[in-house]
Amino acid sequence: MMNHSLSERDIKVIWHPYTQHKTSGPPIPIAKGEGALLFDEEGNTYIDAISSWWVNLHGHANPYIAEKLYQQALTLEQVIFTRFTHEPAVRLAERLLNILPGNLSKIFYSDNGSTAVEVALKMAIQFWRNKGRPEKNKILAFQHAYHGDTFGAMSVSGRGLFTESFRDLLFETIFIETPDETNADQIHAIINAHEGTIAAFIYEPLLQAAGGMRMYGIKEMNGLLEYIHQKNILCIADEVLTGFGRTGSLFASELLKPAADLICLSKGITGGTMALGATACSEEMFDAFLSEDGTRTFLHGHSYTANPLACTAGLASLDLLEEKKCRDQINAIRKQHEQFVSNDLSKKNQQLFRNMRIMGTILAFEFNAGKDEYLNQVGTTIMKQALAKGIYLRPLGNTVYIMPPYCITREQLNRVYQFLLTLTPESSMGV
Ligand code: PMP
Repeated sequence: MMNHSLSERDIKVIWHPYTQHKTSGPPIPIAKGEGALLFDEEGNTYIDAISSWWVNLHGHANPYIAEKLYQQALTLEQVIFTRFTHEPAVRLAERLLNILPGNLSKIFYSDNGSTAVEVALKMAIQFWRNKGRPEKNKILAFQHAYHGDTFGAMSVSGRGLFTESFRDLLFETIFIETPDETNADQIHAIINAHEGTIAAFIYEPLLQAAGGMRMYGIKEMNGLLEYIHQKNILCIADEVLTGFGRTGSLFASELLKPAADLICLSKGITGGTMALGATACSEEMFDAFLSEDGTRTFLHGHSYTANPLACTAGLASLDLLEEKKCRDQINAIRKQHEQFVSNDLSKKNQQLFRNMRIMGTILAFEFNAGKDEYLNQVGTTIMKQALAKGIYLRPLGNTVYIMPPYCITREQLNRVYQFLLTLTPESSMGV
């Protein structure tokens, strides 16, 4: 065993997520992380330009979070969360409810973004059942949405490559386009056609991330939310990605009204340290499950619900997030993105870098080579070229984006930009 390299051992026993093992090549063994940098076994560094799948806020192996975790691990590492409770779970719920937009009053914990979504969907559907309206059991969602990889989350995600193999097994969902200046009537007609049967509307507020970093407008979304609210449909904001400062404001939903009835959280909730999901709901939602009748109970839970270590990481991450320094970092990244786009990228080959867009800490564009689709191999080629330059990028097909940890330095971000500027039409030819 000792004679084999870590990547050789990995290849023997590991199946990686979203990986075509026939073509992916051996994985790079990462030995440690510090700030926005990852170090491999040989000491090479990689700038984590997508925050390790969008989770990391304050940098890797953050000493403040690590110290809090260590202390908590020596005190209480895990405990069943029915009939028992603990300080980190209660404190984190208090603090989340304090900062979440709208009038939410309860937190239900789970362990990732998909489960946070499953919980919200199940709550919404059972809410109407408990209220004596079982016919309200359909979900309204956006085309191109991505809400996770479990069956419920896939069912409310846009139909496409990620869901294709399971198409016949997904529950029926009503899909609408994201709102723009032209399509309100068409969207209203679809909603009206299902009048009285829609339990909830689920949406990624202002940014559809895995669907291709698609951004849409506040004004039109507020119009849609108002319409949906009048139709007595619950609103579920999936803030799994957009939460905790990613899009500039603490939560993207802060910019939207009416406020959501349920909010799903994960990814940045622990600063990217531990797996944790949370679904926030209103008092009215919670009250609809109170009964002498056991069948009205929300019979859902996960073994690691409210894991004390994960909740502790959540509290430590919030400490850092609430510091002025962190807000300054988020603003600085946005400004640096804006300068890069206006000074450098837009002067480059406009044909090659199409549809440049910025939202908070996220910069995205389409690299104009081949089709606009996830399976476009130019993404893999760019990823390999970036790795060779010490940068970890993971384009969604030909949609290239940067989403760095908030602690990234100016110089590190510049290095990522400089790499992007080296891309040429030949970049699509492979390495
Ligand atoms: N919702 C959104 C908006 C997401 O971006 C993701 C993950 N990319 C999920 C849900 C699913 O989260 P997880 O991967 O933790 O299951």
